[in-house]
Amino acid sequence: MRKIVSLFIVFFLYVSCNSNSENQQWQKGNLHTHSFWSDGNDFPEMIIQWYKNHDYQFIALSDHNTIAEDKRWYQLSKKDLENKVLEKYVDAFGSWVETKKDSLNLSVRLKTFDEYRSKLEEPDRFLIIRSEEVTSSFENKPIHINVTNIQEKIEPVKASSVVEVMQKTLDLVHAQRKRLGIPMFAHINHPNFGYGISTEDMKNLNGERFFEVYNGHPAVHNAGNEEYDSTEIMWDLINIHYLQQGKPLLYGIATDDSHHYHNFTADLSNTGRGWVMVKSKTLETGSLIDAMEKGDFYASTGITIKKYEVTKNQISIEVKPEHDVNYEILFLGYKNGGEVVETLKRVPDTKGTYNFEENDLFVRVKINSDAIKDSPPNTKETKQAWTQPILTSK
Ligand SMILES: [Zn+2]
Ligand SMILES: [Zn+2]
Repeated sequence: MRKIVSLFIVFFLYVSCNSNSENQQWQKGNLHTHSFWSDGNDFPEMIIQWYKNHDYQFIALSDHNTIAEDKRWYQLSKKDLENKVLEKYVDAFGSWVETKKDSLNLSVRLKTFDEYRSKLEEPDRFLIIRSEEVTSSFENKPIHINVTNIQEKIEPVKASSVVEVMQKTLDLVHAQRKRLGIPMFAHINHPNFGYGISTEDMKNLNGERFFEVYNGHPAVHNAGNEEYDSTEIMWDLINIHYLQQGKPLLYGIATDDSHHYHNFTADLSNTGRGWVMVKSKTLETGSLIDAMEKGDFYASTGITIKKYEVTKNQISIEVKPEHDVNYEILFLGYKNGGEVVETLKRVPDTKGTYNFEENDLFVRVKINSDAIKDSPPNTKETKQAWTQPILTSK
């Protein structure tokens, strides 16, 4: 009898461990997208449908300075007629589409956030999160900050420096979150767009947790130039500073910043270029935000991570390999007394482990590959992935 009981216990443990790991799924999402509510060139439902059809689990439409809640008629432009936006929309959504015509113009009512969410969200399958790209500037410098799960619109901020505009925006997000008791977070968009936001600007912020290490828009200079650092170098320098200041580390996000949905070329901003994979038990906004704030996610432009484990002593990582692709796993870290983040270990393989060393302060993983990205067509960019920096406790 005892044997049967212990067998039962072993079986029970096996089942519960197994179901635990099954629940711990990676949820794929894009947190930066534009529609006709601002300068995107398609209807929200058409865009959401694209992401649903391409294996994403969540999407946030982050239009400039709007949360899509008012009654708005959108007047079709000549370009929209060329793109056949209305025909495609009616084909897909039929009588759901509302149009009106005056003597000259044809207009279509844009469905509000509540409307498009109720039409397309599916429990446990596809989640739609409210967002706004709070779009401010200082002098000629663009300052764009996304607010994921925003509930009340935030107006663009006016202030006397780039840092002040950013800090005031962050403070408004924190105040709204506290007042409503609803999780939401800000992320800094494309710092090198117009080279508007510098490393020093971001170092000076308080309460900033996320920024775009990769943005798929062709005008954002992720790689920097001779004068300006790449977003990845900015990221490391900011984190060295945050660590020294006792601030939580900054996490890196990849997004599409998609605007164009009818033609796919390298000079347009299309879907499918950058996303986050969030380790979350459930497909709910609160648990996704919770996971992201713990750093339980990675940014990707095409690489899928099969296994990622962090213990007190080491990081182990394994890539889900694609046929005929070469991978390079880089363990990058900041050491006590150092000035920069350095390569601690390079593994030219699909799996690798790094054992933390005495002087390591934080470590992150970057995966490179020689696979050309799926979007845009004919790009030279290769697929990459970035995990979040881990504070080592050695
Ligand atoms: Zn922007
Ligand atoms: Zn944008």
